[in-house]
Amino acid sequence: MADFGFNISKPQSIDTNDMDVNRLQALEEKVPSFRRCISCGACTATCSAGQFGSFNIRRIHNLYRWDQRKGLEKEMQKCMLCGKCTLVCPRGVNLRSLIIHIRKALADKK
Ligand code: SF4
Ligand code: SF4
Repeated sequence: MADFGFNISKPQSIDTNDMDVNRLQALEEKVPSFRRCISCGACTATCSAGQFGSFNIRRIHNLYRWDQRKGLEKEMQKCMLCGKCTLVCPRGVNLRSLIIHIRKALADKK
């Protein structure tokens, strides 16, 4: 098969009945600016870590939003906390703080 340099993502459905919304609420209390995210992808486009691999910060915080936490703890270790994403976010989301709190919540299994 020809290599076009990209893959088609597998279809994914999320059963929202299984979601623990308390996790998202706890995160939004710690980082209120996260409520303003419009999923534009500017953070991913400028991400330092994303330039060296498949790390995608927008995908990660969207998965966390939808309580899809499997594999996220390992993925989050790729972030260098450089803060570039915070500088470019058009909605003023404090991504650096968001990442720190997501990491902490994942490590604490909360
Ligand atoms: S740049 Fe800001 S608004 Fe856009 S996806 Fe990232 S966090 Fe959300
Ligand atoms: S802080 Fe992390 S997610 Fe944001 S640009 Fe830097 S490496 Fe990417």
